Amino acid sequence: MAQRPRFPAQLDTSSGRPDVAKKIAVSAGGTGAGVQKHAQMATPRALTPESTALRARMVQRLAVQGIRSPQVLTAMGTVERHRFVDSGLAGQAYEDTSLPIGLAQTISKPNVVARMAELLLAAQALQPVEGAAPGARLGRVLEIGTGCGYQAAVLSLLVREVYSIERLRGLHDKARDNLRPFRLANVHLLFGDGMVGYAKGAPYAGIIAAAGGEAVPQAWCDQLAVGGRLVAPLVTGAGQQSLIVIDRTPHGLKQNVLEAVHFVPLKSGIA
Ligand code: SAH
Repeated sequence: MAQRPRFPAQLDTSSGRPDVAKKIAVSAGGTGAGVQKHAQMATPRALTPESTALRARMVQRLAVQGIRSPQVLTAMGTVERHRFVDSGLAGQAYEDTSLPIGLAQTISKPNVVARMAELLLAAQALQPVEGAAPGARLGRVLEIGTGCGYQAAVLSLLVREVYSIERLRGLHDKARDNLRPFRLANVHLLFGDGMVGYAKGAPYAGIIAAAGGEAVPQAWCDQLAVGGRLVAPLVTGAGQQSLIVIDRTPHGLKQNVLEAVHFVPLKSGIA
């Protein structure tokens, strides 16, 4: 079994390990600018070389696991996941594992966050239009289930505006505290029942749910732009959830069922 790195981890920095995040930021061309801007804003405290190295390793793993989008890999290499979990769990923040965030909820595994972000970014409505500045962030996205705010931070580097809604007051407040030092002007945190979406921000180029229900709420489909894409876990069998993708085309909705996943349940109402 792989040994868990302690935190801060003791890493051998003399090994000349590649700085994956930096490499990808460069190869991603224009996206580097946005990332750098974020990186500047995202350093309320000094970046520890240890967490930077652990993130770079995590990004390498994500690439091996099949994540191809340079933008997604750059975002995953930029957002400091350890700042979104309790300090006692920070040592596990860059492992491929989900972690508790309080109130019986969990932060998704990095590879699930990256996979969903990659699927979302492939939305037709999120493709660069002719004349757009290279690497410009496009489109409005709605996230259902803010949790600790980690995925919202990742999405903030990938799209123009992120609306993120959470039904548990305690987690909404926690996400606000977690995100405050990053000063992400394009993340809008909302407290409410995401089952009804958030009509005021609609239509969305993308909708991403971090909690799985028995059916996709009609409001989500209604609030999706033409060319927009919904990525969500859905109960597809007894006790079984799968990731689904729904594209809104000019001719209607097109649904694809992908791999099995395990998310916390989608619940209605606020608490
Ligand atoms: N993206 C989150 C994952 C949080 S887990 C992160 O990065 O941490 C999923 C979250 O969905 C939980 O916080 C849960 O409270 C929330 N949730 C479940 N049903 C919801 C609903 N109807 N509206 C809003 N949030 C919901």
